[in-house]
Amino acid sequence: MSQRKTALVTGSTSGIGLAIAERFATDGFNVVLNSYTDDGQDHALAAELSERHAGAVVYIQADMSKPDRCQALVAAAAERFGTVDVLVNNAGIQHVAPVEEFAPEKWDAIIAINLSSAFHTIAATVPLMKKAGTGRIVNIASAHGLVASPFKSAYVSAKHGIMGLTKTVALELATHRITCNAICPGYVLTPLVEAQIPDQMKAHAMDRETVIREVMLDRQPTKEFATVEQIAATAAFLASDAAAQITGTHISVDGGWTAA
Ligand code: NAD
Repeated sequence: MSQRKTALVTGSTSGIGLAIAERFATDGFNVVLNSYTDDGQDHALAAELSERHAGAVVYIQADMSKPDRCQALVAAAAERFGTVDVLVNNAGIQHVAPVEEFAPEKWDAIIAINLSSAFHTIAATVPLMKKAGTGRIVNIASAHGLVASPFKSAYVSAKHGIMGLTKTVALELATHRITCNAICPGYVLTPLVEAQIPDQMKAHAMDRETVIREVMLDRQPTKEFATVEQIAATAAFLASDAAAQITGTHISVDGGWTAA
């Protein structure tokens, strides 16, 4: 029987990252969950996932804004499971402000967490993947990796940056059977987004469906959110044998946003 593979998903205690972690656990992988906190509930989440799936799920705390912690996360994952077969760079934060009012520390934090962390985890993981003779890197970018919106200068810059990193790493590793791709979600119904709906309903005096269609999904032609499960399924596809010749590119899951 072939050995169980290991997936490391950064920023995976909620939303898209958690759904990706759950999907890889369902597909029989060992999984490393990660966030910057070190609460009982982080480890309980890993234990609960572990209980429901055949592979082991562990939580490893590491702040993705810190280069040495990104490297330490990969080292700890490899120590626990022997290697990292699939690396998913998902950790991300947002801040919205006009460029002239954008706090420099917010800029630095977004570039560090949304872009530089992927460089550090990739640099630490590639030697393991080269040794294994194969590997998959999936970067969670955004529609904002392809197009801009006002007041999101750091986020849009970081997401455009990760698209360039994805293509460069793919070219460097093309003959090593290691692929590197990005997923570009539009609006995804994460708990964070769901929590904003009641406030928007009140502010606009609209019902839930109208708020979703006309306020939140203004730029998403299907007028439907993508789901975390759909993003997770796309990550699983990029990690599958069927995607072996897909590298240096992205898959948009944005309801047509970037077609316009
Ligand atoms: P979320 O807030 O639900 O999850 C983010 C995760 O990252 C959490 O587990 C959080 O603990 C973790 N995290 C934050 N800062 C961290 C740090 N310093 N170190 C380690 N972990 C950290 O957000 P989400 O909506 O699931 O977003 C996940 C990714 O998907 C992000 O990269 C985001 O930019 C991207 N994305 C989201 C949407 C959307 O509509 N939700 C759309 C496009 C792209």
